[in-house]
Amino acid sequence: MIIAIDGPAGAGKSTVARSLAAELGYRYLDTGAMYRALTWLACERSVDPENGVALAELGRANPIDFDSAGHTEIGGIDVTEEIRRPEVDRVVSPVSRQPEVRELMRERQRELAALGDSVIEGRDIGRVVVPGAEVKVYLVADEAVRAGRRLAERPGSVAETLAAEMHRRDDADAPQMLPAPDAVHIDTTNLRVEEVVAKIETLVTEKLSSRR
Ligand code: C5P
Repeated sequence: MIIAIDGPAGAGKSTVARSLAAELGYRYLDTGAMYRALTWLACERSVDPENGVALAELGRANPIDFDSAGHTEIGGIDVTEEIRRPEVDRVVSPVSRQPEVRELMRERQRELAALGDSVIEGRDIGRVVVPGAEVKVYLVADEAVRAGRRLAERPGSVAETLAAEMHRRDDADAPQMLPAPDAVHIDTTNLRVEEVVAKIETLVTEKLSSRR
């Protein structure tokens, strides 16, 4: 079973997807981490974030993987922490917009999804990467709440700067944001993580029983 969780930054995707995967004993795939890893490497190697051909070449030469602890690796380098830096936040959207990059990433994401039961989070999972996913969810939340969550994840940051960055990234990500028409929308503004996870588990149970 594939569970696709899409939504904007701060809607709760990562926390919910990780917790859901742990409860169900499924794999967890963070596709944002993949775009971030390529962006980090492009910055390191001074590759133009608008040059799709060069970026895809870089990505092909440096495959992305996740180790058993869930750490993100590119070309064998563990970049789990580096990819959360503000420089990566700033450049990830133009990198992700390049068609050659999306093609490469989607190919790898489908390979990883084919390994078995998975919870996959991103922006285009239910609509493009795995349109056959049995459970599709689109998470949303009020902008102020989303910014507050980002701030909690990045202690020491300035709230206004983070909120402005998130707003800018929402606009920049709009072309990549492709919610599936059949996704169940869940507004997480006033819900605890466990409540969101429970709602998705109900969808999973319904799907599993309708298979029989
Ligand atoms: O989810 P996260 O905020 O870590 O994603 C980082 C960036 O990766 C997004 O801002 C977006 O530009 C890109 N992304 C994407 N498609 C996905 C997942 C992430 O374009 N499936």
